[in-house]
Amino acid sequence: MFAKEMVELGNQRSVIRELFEYGNQRAKVVGKENVFDFSLGNPSVPAPQWVGDRLQELLDTQSPMALHSYTSAPGDMQVRNAVATDLNHRFGTQYSGESLYLTAGAAAALCACFRALTESPTDEFVAIAPYFPEYKCFVEQGAGATLRVAEADTKEFQIDFDQLEQCLNPNTRGVIVNSPNNPSGAVYHLETVQRLAQLLERKSKEYGHPIFIISDEPYREIVYTEETPFLPNYYKDTLVCYSWSKSLSLPGERIGYVLVPPTVTNAKEAYDAICGAGRSLGYVNAPSLFQKVIACAGGHKAEVEAYRKNRDLLCEGLKQAGYSFAVPQGAFYLFPAVPGGNGEEFSKRAMKYDLLVVPGEGFGCPGHIRISYCVAEDTIRRALPLFTKLMEEYQSSAKQ
Ligand code: PLP
Repeated sequence: MFAKEMVELGNQRSVIRELFEYGNQRAKVVGKENVFDFSLGNPSVPAPQWVGDRLQELLDTQSPMALHSYTSAPGDMQVRNAVATDLNHRFGTQYSGESLYLTAGAAAALCACFRALTESPTDEFVAIAPYFPEYKCFVEQGAGATLRVAEADTKEFQIDFDQLEQCLNPNTRGVIVNSPNNPSGAVYHLETVQRLAQLLERKSKEYGHPIFIISDEPYREIVYTEETPFLPNYYKDTLVCYSWSKSLSLPGERIGYVLVPPTVTNAKEAYDAICGAGRSLGYVNAPSLFQKVIACAGGHKAEVEAYRKNRDLLCEGLKQAGYSFAVPQGAFYLFPAVPGGNGEEFSKRAMKYDLLVVPGEGFGCPGHIRISYCVAEDTIRRALPLFTKLMEEYQSSAKQ
């Protein structure tokens, strides 16, 4: 009676949700402070003061009709122009609001892109492991295409170009790029981006149609060293999916965009396809109130210091305990290799200590775990001895 695929999808809880629910149950037994929940990517830094001030100002000065009405489907043009101006200022581009389609977060932006680019069920998109697991359902159940996965470069979590090239074929419509990356925290170096652009230009020519980059950028502002190269400046067929979920700690407010730069092949048609995809998905328009808030986001930097402090504390503690990992340069995740080489088993064993970490298997990268360090600093301090105990447990069972 109902679509079997959808029933299954609705029934399956992600591993991350399972862990989160388990943590809530354990909190009732052992107390919230004794559960070390590193499972979710919910920002731990509060939304900046200016966001609250702007909301208050809007409520004080504008009529409810002006605040809560529908906007035009791609978003209020003044807001889109303000976002374009900020991008131009930062990245030396010359966009106008006409290139932006505002969405309910990066997830909706991604779904609109996959839907817009899928012409036939044989179409394919490529994710580069480790990757955000929701891509599979957005591409396959959402757009009716297929997701291929290029195996990870587990040393630095840049791109393994041999693996990527093996995934490309004439059915490839796009490659999903996520830098800074969830779950590895890697930021692609300029050299990686340039090499990626060269590969895709060559393959696009060979296949006689463009392979798009779908650049998933909710962590763009959360970087600790180098800036993330802005992909449209290196590869013309790039669609950018952005949100303020992480940079302004507004994940529940659902606000983001698709940028369709004028450089993309058949840009007008591409933009129309994004609008059409949004329409077919029933998006109507991005939340009006938060459109008005993010119009003022230009010039405000994301608060990354608390995350940097957590990262340094965690990296130092885990290094001393004998874990190996690539030091994350962005986002708020650490992705160490686990002793024993099995992320699922490690995650299960960690639960004995009320330590909740996500197995890397779901991110297409076995033998690792994801630790979300968007938590209180004290949680990390108190969890480090438990990570050490776990490592010792593995070391002593290896000796036996
Ligand atoms: N892409 C990645 C890599 C993410 O980690 C997330 C959320 O955690 C999203 C997309 C979805 O972002 P949003 O909440 O803005 O829809």
